[in-house]
Amino acid sequence: MYVFKGGFRKKFIMEKTETLYNLTHYNIRPDKKYGQNFLTDDDILDGIVEAAGVTKDDTVLEIGPGLGALTKRLSKAAGKVVAVEIDEKLIMLLEETVGKEENVTIINQDILKTDIREIVSGTRGRLKVVANLPYYITSPIVVKLLEESRKDGEVFIDSITVMVQKEVAERLTSGPGTKDYGAITLFAQYYAETEIKIDVPPESFMPPPAVNSSVINMKILPEPPVSTKDEELMMKLIRASFNQRRKTLLNGIKNSPELSISKEKAEEALNKMGKPLTVRGETFTLEEFAELSDMLL
Ligand code: SAM
Repeated sequence: MYVFKGGFRKKFIMEKTETLYNLTHYNIRPDKKYGQNFLTDDDILDGIVEAAGVTKDDTVLEIGPGLGALTKRLSKAAGKVVAVEIDEKLIMLLEETVGKEENVTIINQDILKTDIREIVSGTRGRLKVVANLPYYITSPIVVKLLEESRKDGEVFIDSITVMVQKEVAERLTSGPGTKDYGAITLFAQYYAETEIKIDVPPESFMPPPAVNSSVINMKILPEPPVSTKDEELMMKLIRASFNQRRKTLLNGIKNSPELSISKEKAEEALNKMGKPLTVRGETFTLEEFAELSDMLL
């Protein structure tokens, strides 16, 4: 039995009750296949909207509205909400609840196959992405969003505020030489300033996931933080050096199926940078990858 001990506990029970009601009334079983862990903690739900800094001037793209707990808060805070949900079984519930709000559009699609520009065309204001992401496809979603966020010097997505596994949040915000540092860290740095906003325990979800979670905010930079003559080459070098973590950067370049750079040329570039030939990519900063990439052109 719940004991009411002030506002926080009372609010927590409200969303939990609604989730239980929705699951029973619409005869829904959370589907593991789609990473369905529904957030039932009011304070965390409110905290996500706050961390995203959503205002009436914004359009929000929500990925995976689930039972609509976050969607209804976004609807109150934003000018417009476009929510993309893959699971057909949830669509009737969403249409009968949050979908009734005039500023909410529900789309039954797979976000990885969705043309984001098309579904938000005609909306006004800054585009913010806010979501409690399905963990089985966090990386492809984050990569897709970042690639879309800024193109040819134009910022299309203002910010991305998403719940991810704590471990992924740490990877996205880590520094060179640490165990969490990887290709995705550098990729994120190239597009955004990333900050962990809230740590979330498993009990905040129904059913609880097997991992801890964090809400991160990625503010898209108007311009890349480093300049490089060939962005694609720099990304290939980054991938090559983290594909084989334990190998030297030189071996990573040599073994990459994406690159055809001679050993001599790579050695010469490292010499010019004052780096030992045994250096590992995991010690390189984004600036150093940009410098190396320009030398290898
Ligand atoms: N937003 C809800 C919440 O906070 O309670 C649900 C979050 S749940 C972690 C992830 C949601 O993403 C589920 O509703 C799931 O069906 C949906 N989903 C999973 N894969 C998806 C995909 N490829 N495209 C769109 N939605 C997806």
